[in-house]
Amino acid sequence: MIQLYMPLNFIGSVYRDIKQGLIDVEEMFSLLEVEADIKDRPGAVPLRTAKGEIIFEHVDFAYDKERPILRDLSFRVPSGKTVAIVGPSGAGKSTISRLLFRFYDVSAGRILVDGQDIAGVTQKTLRAAIGMVPQDTVLFNDTVRYNIRYGRPEASDEEVEDAARLAQVHSFVMTLPKGYEALVGERGLKLSGGEKQRVSIARTILKSPPILILDEATSALDSMTEREIQTALGQVSRNRTTLVIAHRLTTVVEADEIIVLEHGGIAERGTHGELLKQRGLYAAMWNRQREADEARRKLADIEHEE
Ligand code: ATP
Repeated sequence: MIQLYMPLNFIGSVYRDIKQGLIDVEEMFSLLEVEADIKDRPGAVPLRTAKGEIIFEHVDFAYDKERPILRDLSFRVPSGKTVAIVGPSGAGKSTISRLLFRFYDVSAGRILVDGQDIAGVTQKTLRAAIGMVPQDTVLFNDTVRYNIRYGRPEASDEEVEDAARLAQVHSFVMTLPKGYEALVGERGLKLSGGEKQRVSIARTILKSPPILILDEATSALDSMTEREIQTALGQVSRNRTTLVIAHRLTTVVEADEIIVLEHGGIAERGTHGELLKQRGLYAAMWNRQREADEARRKLADIEHEE
């Protein structure tokens, strides 16, 4: 069987070749036409979503038996709250979101969504309950309107535009000669990373899933774009159970809880303020990132002056 590596910042090159493909996570397996390792269990039932609470209960996980990735991991994302997972590269952050989508089964412990073990529910209903704002969005070769409406095909034009406003992308769209009818994607207008991400946020606002995963961009954006994205993300995650996979630390400051993952276990946990006071791993990561951002800004200023 094919061992499928499924980064959640999704396989752009595959999409690019698909003219009218489906972009949602839940459609990925059929798109790739590979047989997934994980199937619905006999007797699997639909997920009954309520408030969107997530619980990881003593979860162990390894891609290869010899190399454990997560060890005895327990945490809870209460309904409507935001929990951010941070930690060094390779600590297992994205693995957590893959497990929540049930791209893999845990080797011990359980993952519960609204009290139901996700191993016993149908994948279709599980994945329909989770919205994802990936770090690298690939758009359809179609209009801006189509790309946003994909989140909820029956949405009216007005609802599409309201979602775009909340996602901080409406005024940008209005600068395009054809506005919402402008063609985007590989064969249309080339949008910047930040613009594409905001279109994707608008789509997710329209879909309005009870649970949201934000896969934060790995690379730094310019500060204006970053601010716009932060505002847009704030809108989409408001009152929605949100798990932030933070490769950088920009979106975590406001999180209700930050979990610092190291060697597959929780090294520290708390709010941004509490963790800075601890002067541990998180504080060190925060300071390092601030220094790097500062250096990058100075370099950009110098280049600007030249
Ligand atoms: P980053 O911030 O760099 O994206 P991360 O914390 O999100 O890192 P993960 O992507 O969760 O890290 O990966 C955790 C570990 O699991 C890494 O050592 C990675 O090499 C390994 N890994 C990820 N996917 C697979 C796979 N399909 N098969 C085997 N090992 C994998």
